[in-house]
Amino acid sequence: MHLDMDAFFASVEQRDNPEYRGKPVVVGAMPGRRGVVSTCSYEARKYGICSAMPISEAHRRCPDAIYLRPDMARYVAVSKKVMLALGEISPVVEPVSIDEAYIDISGMERLIGEPVEIGRLTKLKIREVVGLDCSAGIGPNRLIAKLASEYQKPDGLVVIRPEQIQAFLDPMPVSNLRGVGPKARQELEQLGVYTVKHLKTYSLDVLRGYFGDNGGQHLYNQARGIALDQVGTKGGRKSISKESTFNEDVIDQRQLRECLRGLAAEVGRTARSKCLKGRVVTMKIRLDGFETHTRQKKLRNATSADGVVLNIAWNLYQESGFAGRPVRLIGLGISEWGGSEPMGDLFDDPEECKREEHLYAAMDEVTKKFGRGKLSLGLKKRD
Ligand SMILES: [Mg+2]
Repeated sequence: MHLDMDAFFASVEQRDNPEYRGKPVVVGAMPGRRGVVSTCSYEARKYGICSAMPISEAHRRCPDAIYLRPDMARYVAVSKKVMLALGEISPVVEPVSIDEAYIDISGMERLIGEPVEIGRLTKLKIREVVGLDCSAGIGPNRLIAKLASEYQKPDGLVVIRPEQIQAFLDPMPVSNLRGVGPKARQELEQLGVYTVKHLKTYSLDVLRGYFGDNGGQHLYNQARGIALDQVGTKGGRKSISKESTFNEDVIDQRQLRECLRGLAAEVGRTARSKCLKGRVVTMKIRLDGFETHTRQKKLRNATSADGVVLNIAWNLYQESGFAGRPVRLIGLGISEWGGSEPMGDLFDDPEECKREEHLYAAMDEVTKKFGRGKLSLGLKKRD
């Protein structure tokens, strides 16, 4: 999902100064001086004023607009609140500017609902937190999400499903694509290329010939809705793990499994509270003499289910070759966040998935209310 605040600076001004509402507001340089428009309200856009326009030109078009210098400190404070609110929707938020961010919502349908619901919820939340409108676009990758958020501004919400990509892109002017500035646009127009549909008729070789290897490839990919970049966070949480150190070394298999069960419950609960699912389960073990080992297993389906994590960690322990040796510390964790991919697995049965989800939601609720360890799963061994 790409989220973009509508006419951000001007909207903050209109929010904080009711007398500016419904009027053309231009934030940027002051008329009579050099400089450009930074942001203008939608009322000002009706006069043909837009971002980056020389302020003299804006003033010529609408002398009666309200002209304001930007108050960055105030905008930054609002931006922080927006980004924090987004962090409550998904753990993977990548701010790209003061009023724009990409949010990874993959794999969240089961938690919140259809993508359009996630979009609606996000917009609602932002309105609650900062009292401002934004536009959201949702798509299979960042390119499509961004184009979708621009599509219905202001207060837009557009979801493009994979099968809709080409129909969405085809009529678009090529200048909507990334990296197509005035110069590239002119070159494309000289080739007779005005829309993405035109662009698609050119082979990769021809585009590379005109725009260089990278530029040509970039255009070729975009015309087909292909974008390989993923949404990421800087310093985002990479794993969730818990471990337990014993006062005395433990050999008893039942005791070890009980310990792992408790740890799996904590890892699962933490992951679910952050809407994270891991593709990799790690088991960590420390033997006498501080000899420490880890074992990992990569899953086809990302998970946050205690039972799945426990069974995999337990199998890793049993296959590690250390079973039967005195254990000082044991731990488990999940990492590599992701959604789930279709596979012929028990948990792919949608009914089963729903049951599992309800079960864990209810358990998390009880744990929240009555504390840890009051309720635990009676897990069957799956080996
Ligand atoms: Mg914006």
